[in-house]
Amino acid sequence: MSYIKKTENNVIFDIVVIGAGPTGIAFACGFAGTNIKIAVVDKLPRGVIANPKIDGREIALTHHSVKILKKIDVWRYISNKSISVIKEARVLDGNSTYYLNFNHQEIEKECLGYLIPNYIIRKNLYKRSRNLPNITLINKAECLSVNMGKQHASILLSNGKKIKTSLVVAADGRFSKMRSKMGISAFTRDFNKNMIVCRMKHEKPHQNIAYEFFRYDQTQASLPYIKNLSGIITTATKDFTSTLMKMNKKKFNKEMGSSFNNYFGKMKLLGKRYSYPMVTTYAKKFVSHRFAVIGDAAVGMHPVTAHGFNLGLKGLEILINEIKTAIKNKTDIGLTAVLKNYQSKLHRVAAPVYLATNGIINLYTSTILPSKLTRQFILRFVNTVKPVKQTFLNILK
Ligand SMILES: Cc1cc2nc3c(=O)[nH]c(=O)nc-3n(C[C@H](O)[C@H](O)[C@H](O)COP(=O)(O)OP(=O)(O)OC[C@H]3O[C@@H](n4cnc5c(N)ncnc54)[C@H](O)[C@@H]3O)c2cc1C
Repeated sequence: MSYIKKTENNVIFDIVVIGAGPTGIAFACGFAGTNIKIAVVDKLPRGVIANPKIDGREIALTHHSVKILKKIDVWRYISNKSISVIKEARVLDGNSTYYLNFNHQEIEKECLGYLIPNYIIRKNLYKRSRNLPNITLINKAECLSVNMGKQHASILLSNGKKIKTSLVVAADGRFSKMRSKMGISAFTRDFNKNMIVCRMKHEKPHQNIAYEFFRYDQTQASLPYIKNLSGIITTATKDFTSTLMKMNKKKFNKEMGSSFNNYFGKMKLLGKRYSYPMVTTYAKKFVSHRFAVIGDAAVGMHPVTAHGFNLGLKGLEILINEIKTAIKNKTDIGLTAVLKNYQSKLHRVAAPVYLATNGIINLYTSTILPSKLTRQFILRFVNTVKPVKQTFLNILK
């Protein structure tokens, strides 16, 4: 399929994806076995994309995300040894020992979800894409300019290459330059906090339970990895996280142990600590003529509810289906009418999760007395009112 006539000066692809992050590559892999030619452009060198560095992110995946990774034939590339299961999640507030819990039995599955380090997901997505003849990676390149014509889009890359394509897909992260180039702005919320992530070994077993402790000055979370290892996530003010980043290991280990109320016994930092600013984004539009945004470029979630990549996968699944349907109907895939179906479907899924997550953070980082009381009430309310709890559990299915 190609709606554009090839000329001497232009390389032609049906789809050009800007950004070879997990979403960009997963999207391209969704066209395996078709004759749709896809270029994936990234500013990073190929070696870094093929062998991404550890970035401290342990990605919690829902059952539906695993289904998508299986559908695009990536799951079988990921070694079982790197996958851990989350059987239960417990949410605690302040100094109270009462917890809201979500259990795998409530969704009638063997676990609530899966945990895989981000660099392993990225590495295996790249491995899969390398085996697909219709995907070309253009590395060390950025999009300098883009011109959306009636019949096709023309792209000029920083390496001098000119590309003509039916559709440009931006997957270049939450501060997407491509989205801005297309004149699409985003709702942005700066929480003025940082998140530190690291892996720690601990004395007591986690029993495959994930914890979220909403304390009054910081949020402390743990994600159960294999053996007695957990991904530890601390969200706090920029001043305090900067102190934590610089703290010597011995002091840091002690600090983490006590911030979990010594729940895990002695804790030991393994490897580095990584700091991320807490800024969330939601694009005001997901599409325009011959253009769509996916992944964090569309919705940059707060990691506290671990939905960013899960939403990214859901979004790319929707867009792939819309494109395949358009091709079947011999319709131009760059038409706004085709892309708008993707926009409305993703919006229906993403907006409630985005708003609920930001709402949870507002409430659970507030230290005023009415908020403290509401925080306690909500945990009990969700725990005891079945339909409300089911709404949360449905997201994990
Ligand atoms: C601490 C932390 C924990 C998280 N935990 C979870 C979790 O448990 N579960 C979950 O579902 N999600 C989680 N997430 C979210 C998840 O990591 C992101 O949603 C996901 O990485 C987004 O992938 P992406 O490909 O859209 O964007 P990115 O990962 O940002 O990739 C963007 C790519 O675009 C490239 N790029 C950028 N600019 C340009 C340009 N101008 N030209 C060319 N290329 C460009 C970059 O080099 C990069 O390769 C977490 C995030 C953080 C920060």
